[in-house]
Amino acid sequence: MNLLNTLVDKGLRREAPTREEALAVLATSDDDVLDVVAAAAKVRRHWFGRRVKLNYLVNLKSGLCPEDCSYCSQRLGSKADILKYTWLKPDDASKAAAAGVSGGAKRVCLVASGRGPTDRDVDRVSETIRTIKEQNEDVEVCACLGLLSDGQAERLRAAGADAYNHNLNTSEATYADITTTHTYDDRVDTVRKAHAAGLSACSGLIAGMGETDEDLVDVVFSLRALDPDSVPVNFLIPFEGTPLAKEWNLTPQRCLRILAMVRFVCPDVEVRIAGGREVHLRTMQPLALHLANSIFLGDYLTSEGQAGRADLEMIADAGFEVESADQVTLPEHRAAGGCGSHESAGCGSHERAGCGSHGGGGVCGSGAASPDPQAGEPRTDLVAVRRRGAGTDLAPNA
Ligand code: SF4
Repeated sequence: MNLLNTLVDKGLRREAPTREEALAVLATSDDDVLDVVAAAAKVRRHWFGRRVKLNYLVNLKSGLCPEDCSYCSQRLGSKADILKYTWLKPDDASKAAAAGVSGGAKRVCLVASGRGPTDRDVDRVSETIRTIKEQNEDVEVCACLGLLSDGQAERLRAAGADAYNHNLNTSEATYADITTTHTYDDRVDTVRKAHAAGLSACSGLIAGMGETDEDLVDVVFSLRALDPDSVPVNFLIPFEGTPLAKEWNLTPQRCLRILAMVRFVCPDVEVRIAGGREVHLRTMQPLALHLANSIFLGDYLTSEGQAGRADLEMIADAGFEVESADQVTLPEHRAAGGCGSHESAGCGSHERAGCGSHGGGGVCGSGAASPDPQAGEPRTDLVAVRRRGAGTDLAPNA
């Protein structure tokens, strides 16, 4: 396919595709999905080899958010039966982080629900970052605390944060349809503040909220323009009790096309599969490793992922290797000032079905499968609310 040859050539040169080319990737048929994956995989391998970076989420403060992001189980008025708790103590957060690190995670993403941190919250998180860094040598720390006020990014950086995550989530044109309590511009402003403070910027999207292909392409091009070091791609987990509970729009093939499009538009950036991996890619997850170079290990903010051991086995079986602390994530031309090096990192958004947005997606792995699951049908059986790890007495999944 000429389109794919063109996109591979451009990706190897770090040249952006045109909007039309990006749309054409999303419009390919299921018959072509392996060709699309094979082409984007060449770009992935060129910049990131066969390495997979593991990230570990620690939900510092869960639920009770005053914002109304429709996709989020922690939103104002959410009826989702999620864990709700206030700030974890630094030692408890460090214990959760250590579990992720011992499971192979190179980065810990500290996430808190809410519109944004108060200065007192920044103090708390700064103490938590220092505790984690004292107890876990070499770990990268990404904070994901919502909208930042002036000076807060600098204070987090001074406390040892490597990265800051805040997702754009969807296109500017549709942003007001999913959230009314803050704006798309607010989100862009926070990503810029993180960048300006010397934090590695992490910003991504959520697919599957009813958006058009044009919306997906718009948000990915907007992300490219913001130049984040990492781009988490969340696949909506339609939580019961949230306004988007009925939005089951994704198939594994659609998820692969979206990841391939993101890889072509952001060829040398850490593309991370975030929330919804187990729910929407399901048995096709290993193919997605040929597109993304980063995933979350274990559980998500408010939902459970597959067992950490299963993540590691999948990576090994698919012929990939877990990136170690002494390997630099980003290609040399980006690593000097950005994430992926030891020095910095990147993450997602608040949702975090994976890191990246505040929401909190997750996956199970323990739910019984439907008797005869059909592609595209709601798989509510795969959505399991997190009941272990941070905020509980049970051991974390890592
Ligand atoms: S995404 Fe973040 S800001 Fe929005 S409702 Fe969820 S926790 Fe609150």
